[in-house]
Amino acid sequence: MKNRMVRIVCLLLAAVMMLPASPVMAAEQDTAVILQLGSEILLHGREESAIAAPYYAPNGAVMVPLAPVCEALGASVQVDAGSGRATVQGNSSLIFTAGHWSYFSGGTAQTLASPPVLAGNTFFVPVQALRSLAGVYVHTFGYYDGGFLVLSAAPLTEGDLAGAPNENFSSSAPDAALLQARKRALQTFGPNRGLFDRSAILLRQDSCSAWVAGKEVQISPPGSSYAPYQSPDGLVMLPLRFLTQALGGSYQMWDDGTAVVTYGGHIAAFPAESGSITVDGVKTEHADFGSARKDGEAFCSLAAFTAALDLYGATDSAANGIVISPYSLAKSPALQAAAWSRVQALPRNAAGVAKGYLALTFDDGPSGKYTTALLDGLQQRGAHATFFLCNYRIASYPDLMGRYLAEGHEVGNHSATHAQLTKLGAPALAAELDNTNKAICAGTGTSPVLMRPPGGAYHSAVLQALQARGMDCILWSVDTQDWKYHNTQTVTDNILSVVRDGDIILMHDMYPTSVQAALRAIDTLQAQGYVFVTVSELARIKGVSLQSGQVYHSFR
Ligand code: ZN
Repeated sequence: MKNRMVRIVCLLLAAVMMLPASPVMAAEQDTAVILQLGSEILLHGREESAIAAPYYAPNGAVMVPLAPVCEALGASVQVDAGSGRATVQGNSSLIFTAGHWSYFSGGTAQTLASPPVLAGNTFFVPVQALRSLAGVYVHTFGYYDGGFLVLSAAPLTEGDLAGAPNENFSSSAPDAALLQARKRALQTFGPNRGLFDRSAILLRQDSCSAWVAGKEVQISPPGSSYAPYQSPDGLVMLPLRFLTQALGGSYQMWDDGTAVVTYGGHIAAFPAESGSITVDGVKTEHADFGSARKDGEAFCSLAAFTAALDLYGATDSAANGIVISPYSLAKSPALQAAAWSRVQALPRNAAGVAKGYLALTFDDGPSGKYTTALLDGLQQRGAHATFFLCNYRIASYPDLMGRYLAEGHEVGNHSATHAQLTKLGAPALAAELDNTNKAICAGTGTSPVLMRPPGGAYHSAVLQALQARGMDCILWSVDTQDWKYHNTQTVTDNILSVVRDGDIILMHDMYPTSVQAALRAIDTLQAQGYVFVTVSELARIKGVSLQSGQVYHSFR
């Protein structure tokens, strides 16, 4: 229900953004400075310049590069690398020191949401601190609204969002001027992953599953014929009723076989067996438009669907994938790649294709180059895995956090400090769980539901703490002992000699031998017909509904 609401809100926003800007608004936004989390672009009026990308600090604060942002706002910045100090001179003066939780604004000490960071030649500060520059307003669009930061000389909305705490990082009831700024930002930056996940639909030819708003859903029961398919003349055909409902529109089929979709204030008609669409009474024909009826269900071509509903579509022949989004991905090759990776994880229809499903799990990371090599290898193989992360390591490798979910993997909690949870009192146990959940949420945009206790050690208090957080306790059925045997062949054999359908395999992406063994085992097992999925996917495939506070060793 919640996802559906978010989707509808996204679509309403998309509809509102079609309205023309008033001249007053246009003047306001021409001076605004707009950035996006993770994007190396600064948009100032109509000008684009290259910057170091804004990012989330491990505690959730939004960090921006000080010099280019302040200079665009008309202030000068001096950075003294030796003392780690940055001085901003504008309508007011600010002094920041790298690593310090406070700064000076006109001689008065103020607290920061996170300490400034001097990385290479770039000095980053929490964006909200720039409110201290007289006459600067900071507006934020949350992660699921595109992760945009709008800094302006005038408030763009009545209830300025400047007071919103960083951690929530969400906008409320933005007005038309702010939405216009966001529309311009979307055209420049494209969606970020959060916005894309919440609004895109990913389909796979011949699959009865789809990704909708970041979740895998069933299009129709397995074995039915409502999956997307390729027509004899090469058009990618989509199930119209499912797509319309996924977008929050309404669908009906008339007696003459015409399918009628109401969406975004428009009415689109798809006549049966036709190369035309009719939108708000205007008929359009195109060689790529097509519709068909199969087992009583209406199908239409991707081109007809996206043209009728004013959406963006893309296909990938290698992944047999289809992506439909309210936003153009033209500037987001990384999002497209992530989409195809996810599509490959959607189960194919043909019964008996997979010999079995396995969940590889990797504990104790992230670990820099080994995790990077593993993620690269998994991506090349279209294999997905689950990573149980420790908070103290997330802080060391924040750059990796953007890859896991984007490449179709799952992330779980492996405590903050790798403490044995059964030895902790309630407050320390809560801190181990909550700090890691918070860091994972800050890095991936999603709070984990899976927990693997270090050493597999748990007792009733641990399970109660997990249940209170809606989390499950995931153990394993295959122990590779890769931490003990730093030998690729031994670890590979430890997998291949015992593995069977439904297993959860325990590994650590901490050693080069573990990474090589995992990839070698994947090559062998994929050739035998095994498919590598995440723990949650494995549970779903095996018909198990995960219950919080419960312990799972496998889904055999
Ligand atoms: Zn561990």
